[in-house]
Amino acid sequence: MGKWVYSFGAGRNEGKAEMRNLLGGKGANLAEMASIGLPVPPGFTITTEVCTWFYDHGKKYPEDLRAQVDEALARVEETVGNRFGDAKRPLLVSVRSGARVSMPGMMDTVLNLGLNDQTVEGLEAASGDSRFAWDSYRRFIQMYGSVVLGIDHHRFEEIIEDAKLAANATEDTALTARDWRGVVDGYKAMVQEVRGEPFPQDPQDQLWGAIGAVFGSWMNPRANTYRRLHDIPADWGTAVNVQAMVFGNMGEDCATGVCFTRDPSTGEDIFYGEYLINAQGEDVVAGIRTPQPMSEARAKPDERSMEKAMPAAYAELVKVRETLERHYRDMQDIEFTVQQNKLYMLQTRNGKRTAAASLKIAVDMAAEGLIDRKEAVNRVAPSSLDQLLHPMLDPEAPRKLFSKGLPASPGAACGVVVFSADEAEARANKGEAVILVRIETSPEDIHGMHAARGILTTRGGMTSHAAVVARGMGRPCVAGAGGVTVDYNGQTLSSGGQTVRAGETITLDGASGEVFVGAVPMIEPKLSGDFATLMEWADQSRRLRVRANAETPLDAETARKFGAEGIGLCRTEHMFFDPDRIGAVRQMIMSETERGRREALARLLPFQRKDFLDLFRIMAGLPITIRLLDPPLHEFLPHREEDLAEVAEALGADPAAMKRRAADLAEANPMLGHRGCRLGISYPEIYEMQARAIFEAAIETAKSTGKAPVPEIMIPLVATKRELEITRAQVERMAKAVFAEAGMEVEYQVGTMIELPRAALCADAIAEPADFFSFGTNDLTQTVFGLSRDDAGKFLPLYVEQGILPKDPFVSIDIDGVGALVRIAKEKGRGVKPELKLGICGEHGGDPASIQFCEEAGLDYVSCSPYRVPVARLAAAQAALSGGGGDRTA
Ligand code: PEP
Ligand code: MG
Repeated sequence: MGKWVYSFGAGRNEGKAEMRNLLGGKGANLAEMASIGLPVPPGFTITTEVCTWFYDHGKKYPEDLRAQVDEALARVEETVGNRFGDAKRPLLVSVRSGARVSMPGMMDTVLNLGLNDQTVEGLEAASGDSRFAWDSYRRFIQMYGSVVLGIDHHRFEEIIEDAKLAANATEDTALTARDWRGVVDGYKAMVQEVRGEPFPQDPQDQLWGAIGAVFGSWMNPRANTYRRLHDIPADWGTAVNVQAMVFGNMGEDCATGVCFTRDPSTGEDIFYGEYLINAQGEDVVAGIRTPQPMSEARAKPDERSMEKAMPAAYAELVKVRETLERHYRDMQDIEFTVQQNKLYMLQTRNGKRTAAASLKIAVDMAAEGLIDRKEAVNRVAPSSLDQLLHPMLDPEAPRKLFSKGLPASPGAACGVVVFSADEAEARANKGEAVILVRIETSPEDIHGMHAARGILTTRGGMTSHAAVVARGMGRPCVAGAGGVTVDYNGQTLSSGGQTVRAGETITLDGASGEVFVGAVPMIEPKLSGDFATLMEWADQSRRLRVRANAETPLDAETARKFGAEGIGLCRTEHMFFDPDRIGAVRQMIMSETERGRREALARLLPFQRKDFLDLFRIMAGLPITIRLLDPPLHEFLPHREEDLAEVAEALGADPAAMKRRAADLAEANPMLGHRGCRLGISYPEIYEMQARAIFEAAIETAKSTGKAPVPEIMIPLVATKRELEITRAQVERMAKAVFAEAGMEVEYQVGTMIELPRAALCADAIAEPADFFSFGTNDLTQTVFGLSRDDAGKFLPLYVEQGILPKDPFVSIDIDGVGALVRIAKEKGRGVKPELKLGICGEHGGDPASIQFCEEAGLDYVSCSPYRVPVARLAAAQAALSGGGGDRTA
């Protein structure tokens, strides 16, 4: 025995908002709204536990479920005063799915359930509106037929088209009660033909059929894909909500609408949304009729706002809006119906929003006193900031307008036109930038939307599937571009006499809704206003410092602009590939003698010195960790024979000797070969040159600015204490030499990367000659898993898909394995040197979940690519606020 069913609005409210895991988001919020006195049609929720039970027991239900459903249904009947299946006063219900989080892949809704050949007449008599009754019945057969019985919806459309032809009508609205009656007969005959049995007439059969369809849809391929993309575990299950119907399509004093308590694109504090008079829920999103705006302020001259058309219901809704925002302390996405001027609430949930809106709403709500600053910081998903950091169209750039639609999701995107989700995915996998163009999108298109740079649809409004999903994914989207004609067969889209073919380039501006032919140049985003405010609040809450991985002046400048507090990793080898120095680098590699190498290195020295001078100037006193040369030397030599010959000629070397040398240097397993400090030990002159360049640049900076930088010199791929002792001694000797020549000294530190398991396990010994540790979690992940960084792409996605690994460990730190080594190294290192500085500079330094781990592990800083610095600042603040518990002395 368990409690499987929870009532709401039916004399009792057994659920509340906090019960979303059990009741799903929709069910929990219906109960919550009912309990705070909002007008919610009565109903009940079958819990997510039933879904889990259903799958654990060969798709059967718990024995006592039926009795509980009967009891809850009886309560609804009593509240409404109608009875399920009653020929005179039939109770009709809606059946909807509702997981913990909204999931577009699942069965959505069946309306008007309970109608059959008898009850339709009861509805006709009770409403006094035959057309309404028969239209409702045919809608029910259509919805139930397609989502529960799995009949292709074209089969239903054909019958309507025939009816329209026969009645000489162009619009559905011109069909009469008699016409709809004929459509119902046609539907029933077609169902009999397709299914080999009649459309179910017993309301109980209908109800259990719909309940089964909701649970069944939890495991359909679309839902599975959506869950995979959004990290939703399969064992969460969905709930089923059964609720008394109210009708927005019973006449001109009825309406239905979908709206947001604030603008979900900009965050502006206005009542935002769409409604339709005399319509049922699906009509608003289906794009058949054009929905009208809620507020008069947003209405164009030819539009009729709800504020004007239904002032009383609108005023009530405005009050509900305030109540909901005060109660939930967040922007809500609501659905409502007005039946004969009476307002009913059908749904509320925290509204999906763009990153810009998320920021503005968080900052505004803190200013309004609805939430405090810490909560504001917690409200913005760090990864969503990526959206704000995306390029925009260069306003100065010339462009050729193709068409205009709704600005559904901001950001600019440019790519080649594709017309199907599968093609979008296939071409994106090959590295192409694509724009997915569809008449409208549906949950089947999710994978293609994910793969595309941007999405263009010709149908549907700001609450259409394309708009809502693109916003959530952070993809730029222009929706409902009604002036554009899409021809899937001909693979073209045309507008105003212009035609674009599949494979040709277009550019979208998701902020303005404009579509351009060809590629329009883009510019970097500027950060200000709400962004700066929220970042400031985040910085007040965070403990972890945030540095950037940067080598070039541009990277360093970008990093500073985004608030980096230093450089955590300067990969000096990236400075070796520059065209004006690669010759000297190759000469160094080619020479067989130390003398030859030293000559080549002497040519490189001025370049390196200039590199460090630039970094010291840009970072102006902030800490900079400079890592000495890491990768194996053969990486700098050309690989193809003709390139080898060309380089040999340029260097004046013998091509055969060059080939021999390249062959000598080639390794079976370069990632585990002659790289890192192993190079610095075999060829000490390389690290000596780099150390000299660093010290000379530091001294020059000290002399010219009066402020000496404190370079942190980092030795890569250390496995033993001795390796660090040897390389540290080299650096110290060079420091002494340069200081003697310059007649002055600067402070510096020498530390090491911890990127090999042995280094982590022996961190107590290695800490002795180290001033700091920086965890190189890229190599550490590679070596802990024995998983090649370069080859893992072939099978890691499969591992993630099959759940063998929860996430790609090169993206998000493997807490159990790699994380355990980080903790060991920290304990051992700080055991020897309590003040040992600890950072992380692998790719994980910009990943929010890994940053949470770094906070918990008590590291001092994270270092990530410049564009991810704001993401890291916010993630670090959230980690600290969640009580990460980092502690330098722990
Ligand atoms: C690492 O291994 O994590 C690291 C930062 O170094 P690289 O990626 O250059 O090997
Ligand atoms: Mg490394």
